[in-house]
Amino acid sequence: MSIAENIAAFEQKLAGTTARLVVVTKTHPVEKLREAYAAGARVFGENRVQEMAAKQPELPADVEWHQIGQLQTNKVKYLAPFVHTVESVDSLRLLQELDRQAARHNRVIRGLLQFHIAQEETKTGLSLPEAEEILQSTAYQALRHVRLTGVMGIATNSPDETLVRGEFQQLRQYFEHLKTTYFAQDKEFREISMGMSADYPWALAEGSTLIRVGSAIFGSRG
Ligand SMILES: *Cc1c(COP(=O)(O)O)cnc(C)c1O
Repeated sequence: MSIAENIAAFEQKLAGTTARLVVVTKTHPVEKLREAYAAGARVFGENRVQEMAAKQPELPADVEWHQIGQLQTNKVKYLAPFVHTVESVDSLRLLQELDRQAARHNRVIRGLLQFHIAQEETKTGLSLPEAEEILQSTAYQALRHVRLTGVMGIATNSPDETLVRGEFQQLRQYFEHLKTTYFAQDKEFREISMGMSADYPWALAEGSTLIRVGSAIFGSRG
């Protein structure tokens, strides 16, 4: 199947739900991104700063760029002029730098709090207490150019449906707790980014609002 056919198939699966597709374009050349754009894709996810910054000027301005990989504070300046959402917010320090750089461009950058939900030790992300410590800090509350719009998580890479769905349920519970406690009046705090090529059907069943799909659209990255 072509990229266009794959994207159309995903859009059909998502029709009638509130979930949206993040097309994960990392490692793929600009021509493939143009093909995805022509097929209607508008939300692109990249995990390397240099790669996203190089591709962004080559695509139309209405692309919503999402940073989905770990982001070092010293690289924020390269994304600040254009990035729509940083899905991998894992520290107050990063939020402060996003705020500082977004202010220089008179912008507001959206962010998702990334949680550690997988069994693997290596996967990054916050615990619930760490996230609450950030949200309760006066330093966070002073930020004006960064806006948290939800949560993100990466499940264990496993065919065990019970395990993976349990992790997605955990992330959803974190979202509900934060929503009720800190964002009850904030309609923009509504995103639960979970689900990739291998596990998106389970993520959708558990309430995902953003599925991040690469290989099921472009084929394997080799
Ligand atoms: C690469 C990546 C994806 C997409 O993975 P696929 O298995 O190719 O769909 C999703 N989320 C994150 C954080 C990634 O790094």
